[in-house]
Amino acid sequence: MAAEMTAPTTKASMADDGLDPALVASLRTAIRGEVIAPADPGYERARKVYNGMIDRHPALVVRASDVADVIAAVTFAGERGLPLAVRGGGHNVAGLGTCDGGVVVDLGQMKGIRVDPATRTARVEGGATWGDLDHATHTFGLATPGGLVSTTGVGGLTLGGGFGHLTRRYGLSCDNLLAADVVTADGRLLTVSADEHPDLFWALRGGGGNFGVVTSFEFQLHPVGTVYGGPVFYPAAEGAQILRFFRDFIAEAPPELSAFFGYHVAPPAPFVPEQLHGHAACAIVACYTGPLAQAEAAVAPIRAAGTVALDLMGTLPYPALNSLFDALLPPGMQHYWKADFDTELADEAIAAHAEYGPKVPNFMSLMHLYPLDGAVQRVAPDGTAFSYRDVSFCHIIAGVDPDPAAMPAHTAWVRDYWAALHPYSAGGAYVNFLMDEGQERVKTTYRDNYPRLAALKAAYDPTNFFHVNQNIRPAG
Ligand SMILES: Cc1cc2nc3c(=O)[nH]c(=O)nc-3n(C[C@H](O)[C@H](O)[C@H](O)COP(=O)(O)OP(=O)(O)OC[C@H]3O[C@@H](n4cnc5c(N)ncnc54)[C@H](O)[C@@H]3O)c2cc1C
Repeated sequence: MAAEMTAPTTKASMADDGLDPALVASLRTAIRGEVIAPADPGYERARKVYNGMIDRHPALVVRASDVADVIAAVTFAGERGLPLAVRGGGHNVAGLGTCDGGVVVDLGQMKGIRVDPATRTARVEGGATWGDLDHATHTFGLATPGGLVSTTGVGGLTLGGGFGHLTRRYGLSCDNLLAADVVTADGRLLTVSADEHPDLFWALRGGGGNFGVVTSFEFQLHPVGTVYGGPVFYPAAEGAQILRFFRDFIAEAPPELSAFFGYHVAPPAPFVPEQLHGHAACAIVACYTGPLAQAEAAVAPIRAAGTVALDLMGTLPYPALNSLFDALLPPGMQHYWKADFDTELADEAIAAHAEYGPKVPNFMSLMHLYPLDGAVQRVAPDGTAFSYRDVSFCHIIAGVDPDPAAMPAHTAWVRDYWAALHPYSAGGAYVNFLMDEGQERVKTTYRDNYPRLAALKAAYDPTNFFHVNQNIRPAG
């Protein structure tokens, strides 16, 4: 995949001073949004993505304002053999929302959302974030499973699968997708659903950005308004005990209770007692969506699992829980991640967590262990492109810092931790947590679904035009 993400610049993109100005001018006449070239003010900001480690220089950034702009940008890049990157929320840590020497279609201006409370559905444009969607649906006491940080894009997260606080109860984000409008490599707009182009609909639910630009998504919503949840922190030294508790507790927990485990360093925040600042801790972060009167009883075992250093669980609006980590993870930090799925949490894996978890280097870095059970497992592994439906957990280890000079040490911590856990993992990793890890890793992640995805890629994108992603190569 390294070759895909750094595809050689084509003839059209090689001039030192960017693309031929006449070409850029012709594109500008076709676009209602903005076309930003390297010489334009705002280019430096426009080329950047969430991960500050990514330093790519596209020939143009097209801030699309509508579907027509997307079609114009796709056609422009396609006709000139330019690489094309699609940006939803720009959060992908592999930097898949940008490219060198090509065209970036930035959907960030396309955030329109229409909620239909009667059918409990929402139509969401391709550049909306989870904060945008949670805000729009919460007014009606509704929500759909999304990510844990509100600035993450609905687009990339959903197309890779997507999980969060509501997943045990209501499934992956892609499981709640009812339909999508997609601009394909040949510039057509297709509406896909279980009834229309069902093969493409299957591929979009986990296949990432491989099949086209999704200009809007239609989601199933669920009654979720005020929830009970938040983090409980324990001393890092109790990690093994808390993990054993978590493994057994979550396996028996009802779907309306979700929780994940993490290692963190306590941040110097006003709500954290000063004596904890800068100290490693482990935590369980819960979300209970059942009747509030039963919430305290449902989470009581979490409070009894160890020595509680800080208890921040309580009643709060779902969008507040879903943006709790935003301030800890602002854009522009350096990110290095590694991840895997876990069929089970073996005692040997718990021992590795207990060794490496307490070494988490700062309050932005983390290890999270998410449950992938409940509603996720009600869909067959070949029911959508997202294959790993038969695992229990997914873990991620993230080294994060504002200072590039600190990253070699953080990267070493991530790699050592991951290597210690990998022998006990299921083999593949969540596609949205992968960095630039090579084609075999992508194949492992899609397992038996890969050949079908490759055949669909050959049908819908035979030239691999959409290759700035965790790439599925066209069959043949
Ligand atoms: C702080 C943080 C928290 C996260 N939390 C979670 C979490 O709780 N759960 C979870 O499942 N994941 C989580 N993720 C991972 C997240 O799913 C990926 O980073 C995902 O790629 C983000 O989507 P995006 O639209 O913001 O990214 P982008 O960088 O914009 O895009 C990522 C990929 O998706 C494609 N893409 C994006 N939008 C579209 C579109 N509309 N049409 C076609 N292709 C598109 C892009 O081409 C690219 O290949 C988190 C990431 C971060 C940085």
